[in-house]
Amino acid sequence: MPEHDVLIIGAGLAGQRAALAAAQNGVSVAIMSKVHPVRSHSVAAAGGINAAIDVSDDWRSHAYDTVKGSDFLGDQDAIEVMCREAPGEVMHLEHIGVTFHRNERGELDLRAFGGASINRTAYVADITGQAILHVLYEQLLKHSSVVARYEEWFTTSLIIDDDGACVGVVARDIRSGRIETFAAKSVILASGGAGQCFKPTTNALICTADGMAQAYRAGAPLMDMEMIQYHPTTLAENGFLITEGARGEGAHLLNKDGERFMSKSAPNKMELASRDVVSRAEQTEINEGRGVGADGKGIYLDITVVPRKRTLEALREIVNIGKDFAGVDITREPIIIQPGQHYIMGGVKTDIDGQTPITGLYAAGEVACVSVHGGNRLGANSLLDTLIFGRRSGEHAAQRALSTPVPRISDTALRRDAKMIEEIIARPRSGRRVSEIKEELGTTMNSHCAVFRDGPGLQSAYETVRRLKEEAAHAYIDDSGTVFNQDVLGAIELGYMLDTAETIVAAAIERTESRGAQFRTDFPERNDAEWLKHINTTRGANGEPEISYSPVTITQWQPEERKY
Ligand SMILES: Cc1cc2nc3c(=O)[nH]c(=O)nc-3n(C[C@H](O)[C@H](O)[C@H](O)COP(=O)(O)OP(=O)(O)OC[C@H]3O[C@@H](n4cnc5c(N)ncnc54)[C@H](O)[C@@H]3O)c2cc1C
Repeated sequence: MPEHDVLIIGAGLAGQRAALAAAQNGVSVAIMSKVHPVRSHSVAAAGGINAAIDVSDDWRSHAYDTVKGSDFLGDQDAIEVMCREAPGEVMHLEHIGVTFHRNERGELDLRAFGGASINRTAYVADITGQAILHVLYEQLLKHSSVVARYEEWFTTSLIIDDDGACVGVVARDIRSGRIETFAAKSVILASGGAGQCFKPTTNALICTADGMAQAYRAGAPLMDMEMIQYHPTTLAENGFLITEGARGEGAHLLNKDGERFMSKSAPNKMELASRDVVSRAEQTEINEGRGVGADGKGIYLDITVVPRKRTLEALREIVNIGKDFAGVDITREPIIIQPGQHYIMGGVKTDIDGQTPITGLYAAGEVACVSVHGGNRLGANSLLDTLIFGRRSGEHAAQRALSTPVPRISDTALRRDAKMIEEIIARPRSGRRVSEIKEELGTTMNSHCAVFRDGPGLQSAYETVRRLKEEAAHAYIDDSGTVFNQDVLGAIELGYMLDTAETIVAAAIERTESRGAQFRTDFPERNDAEWLKHINTTRGANGEPEISYSPVTITQWQPEERKY
């Protein structure tokens, strides 16, 4: 049985940053990923990363913008840590080889982003995630003597010992179908988000909420799950993201009358209000008949107002996306976009060192909820979150490992998971396919758990998810082989998505107010007296989510009305 001091599940930015930090703390590290590390969704991050590096900026201003962006649901102690440590982290990335864009004076260039009171987003054209991910991968290679890599291994569950501590995982080698137990003194979940619970989404096909569901099944609470971010600019047919960098560079949003409608809801920040505000304004235009496109469900994003030379230099990926996927030259004509599912603010509840309430289990990145994003994440704060809390988790997990004995593990979990996989493969080919259930889940969530929500819609979504869970227990697959059997992994992922979706809907039903990304048309006001608190969901004895609350940490910024 492989044994490691620190075992990290996920090799996106959070996982790789955690691995680097742990390796530098003198312990043995393993990093596991179901795809090759540089294919993690972090590679798609486009617009940039926030840090108060400008001489006229201050981390407190970044922190206040983040608190306001979160609609006062973010925990201010965690936000302070993230914003204070941001400039050092960006400089560290620059020093290890990330080629951030520079201005004519040779300084790091900073672009405007939504909800920010000053330009503070460092970027590499519109491939920032790719640039950072590749540099971290190279840096980790330097530590090969202490870092084991399990690439294309799929974690099926966390192992919890009799004392309730996390002591390892069970995983399947995707190449051979072999299943194995891994023992670890500390386990860090860095397995990314849950976008595939929705259809369409900007998220990659691998963003299937695995870590959230595994932690939930192991007894960890999931926090702020109702907070789902709809990004204001995605392509209708496939959900592809058009980066906020476009509006950061000056692009306009227009309705069918050519009106810059953001003047109605955010007269100061206009297109650069926070994402929840912009997405709601767009959806209102669409719902009231001022949308564009054949079905009237779109909005124009006009990038032609940005100088062409600048677009070709700083937004080159979306120039290609426009051409290839919408047949539009964005330097010459507006492109039709709509709000689309993009990010989950909620996740496995952690403290500022990534510790979950389960001993030995850490979480960092999109799978985690520290909570720095609260009700709404500011653009370019997620890359920052992955790196700061990835590093802090790696350091803390390594320190913990130094004083923890190697755990003894039985093969009970291994045998259970091997049997679960055999049963999926042996299912009779009748009933529904995994892909059909996934499709219904995605469209249900996108109809009822989107920009605008209400009680009856959420209730019907909850019932649908419960029915889909029953159907999924018998859903069949076609591939019964052992080598690269993605079909069987798809069936396991469907289970993760359904558990996670159930907690999302349950929390959205529970929160009878409107705050951040949760806008309830039946409760349209923010209600601090009753709802200035986090909703936690844990798995109850009957398998359904159980709700509890935890307080929001307020340090220096009292809740106030949010205006942009
Ligand atoms: C299109 C797009 C653009 C974005 N642009 C920006 C931006 O400009 N700025 C910004 O701040 N944020 C941006 N975001 C958000 C940000 O990129 C993500 O939140 C962040 O990269 C998530 O990183 P992560 O390390 O938590 O997870 P990921 O990068 O998603 O990595 C998850 C890892 O977990 C592994 N994994 C998952 N399940 C298992 C399993 N069962 N077994 C083994 N391994 C598993 C995967 O293989 C992968 O390696 C963007 C997101 C998208 C989708």
